Order: sequence, then structure tokens, then C-alpha cells
Amino acid sequence: MGTIALMSEPESTAEPECPGCGQRWLRATSLPGRYRCVYCLGRYELRSDCPSCGAHSTIARMSDTANMVCRNCGSTTLRRV
Ligand SMILES: [Zn+2]
Ligand SMILES: [Zn+2]
Repeated sequence: MGTIALMSEPESTAEPECPGCGQRWLRATSLPGRYRCVYCLGRYELRSDCPSCGAHSTIARMSDTANMVCRNCGSTTLRRV
């Protein structure tokens, strides 16, 4: 019998945490790939290369928050600017 298994969203696709203060208050700005934490007021840029392990990720859509996490090591690819 065909059992339909709905894949639930993994936890990694939750709202991104601010690398600076750890709060989930990152908001996209008017600039593509730029985010601003409304908690600590830090500005961050979404990078195509991981600051932690150096792996390159393909950014399909700069506005997609799922691309904020490195697929290799799982750390954020946001870099403070
Ligand atoms: Zn912050
Ligand atoms: Zn990485």
C-alpha cells in the first residue's frame, strides 16, 4: 500500500539566528543578501562561501533564508559587515 510520508521541515530551516547575539531577529533589508539584526543592530551579509569551513554553496536565491546555513558544516554563512 502506498503510504504518503510528508517530509516535515527540518529544524535547520527555522529562522536564522543572529551570529552576533544568537537571537532570531534577523530581518532582510532592501539590499539583496543583506540582513540586519533588530536585536543587536548588527548588519550581516550572506556569503556564498562558508566562513567556518570555506565550503562554497550555491546561492539560488539570495532572499531564501534556507541558504543561510552551510550544507557542509551546518554553520551560518552570514558574515558581519
Ligand atoms: Zn543580533
Ligand atoms: Zn561550512
